[in-house]
Amino acid sequence: MATSRTRRVAVVTGASSGIGSATAKALARNGFRVVGGARRVERMRKALGEGGVALELDVTRRESVDAFVEELGRRFRHIDVLVNNAGGALGLTPVDQSNDDDWITMWETNVLGLMYMTRGCLPLLRRARHGHIVNLGSIAGFETYKGGAGYTAVKHAVRAISRTLRLELNGEPIRVTEIAPGLVETDFSMVRFHGDRQAAKAVYAGLKPLTADDIADCILFAVTRPPHVDIDEMVIRPVAQATSYQVARKTT
Ligand code: NAP
Repeated sequence: MATSRTRRVAVVTGASSGIGSATAKALARNGFRVVGGARRVERMRKALGEGGVALELDVTRRESVDAFVEELGRRFRHIDVLVNNAGGALGLTPVDQSNDDDWITMWETNVLGLMYMTRGCLPLLRRARHGHIVNLGSIAGFETYKGGAGYTAVKHAVRAISRTLRLELNGEPIRVTEIAPGLVETDFSMVRFHGDRQAAKAVYAGLKPLTADDIADCILFAVTRPPHVDIDEMVIRPVAQATSYQVARKTT
């Protein structure tokens, strides 16, 4: 049984919803001390329950990331796992109709936020016997689809950063895993379509999408392998999804 001294510490960004929330819970159930970071702290606190630590975090703001990492340093000598999960898509329009604000937010959240968090947490990860960085990419990190350039561009960037980190950290006991899901039913599409419930529902119509728990399972698997085993990438799709745009849907 892990004691409070031996329990591994896992930090999950975007733990207030969807994949982040499910991952935080799965890690906690499996003995990790979990720290969640998100803007909706109350919602995250409820998701994490009594055992978890919920701290306010806006990954797009440097000062917020600095304060979050400072607080981590006050509470823990090291962290073992960083799950860079905060992110998402905004809009689905062709490049010639792109919305500047949507693109800026996507870059700030998925790319700059991931960089701020990784750079900020690396000193604490380096103090662990074995560190692990898990980045939430997507099949959009290596596929493209019409209207998806803003999101596919940022997830291609996440893939490039993950691969670069693996080179830069080579020789140190720090693993880097990219998780690349296809369609997962969370608030993702509601956010993407700015609260348009009909548009969000249509994304998952006629198929059985993945759940946040399906992805949490995969993350748990990756971080609980023996320390010399590095799961570089995991691509997980619903069986009905062949590519981003080829999806077998049943019509009733
Ligand atoms: P979700 O339910 O909308 O959750 C997104 C999470 O990101 C929320 O907890 C949100 O928390 C957090 N977040 C957003 N902006 C943030 C910011 N500036 N600072 C801190 N946290 C922020 O969507 P999800 O499906 O779980 O998405 C999680 C990750 O999986 C994302 O990186 C997404 O791109 C990726 N992904 C999702 C799918 C899918 O189909 N759902 C597929 C492939 C990859 P607050 O709003 O409380 O801050």
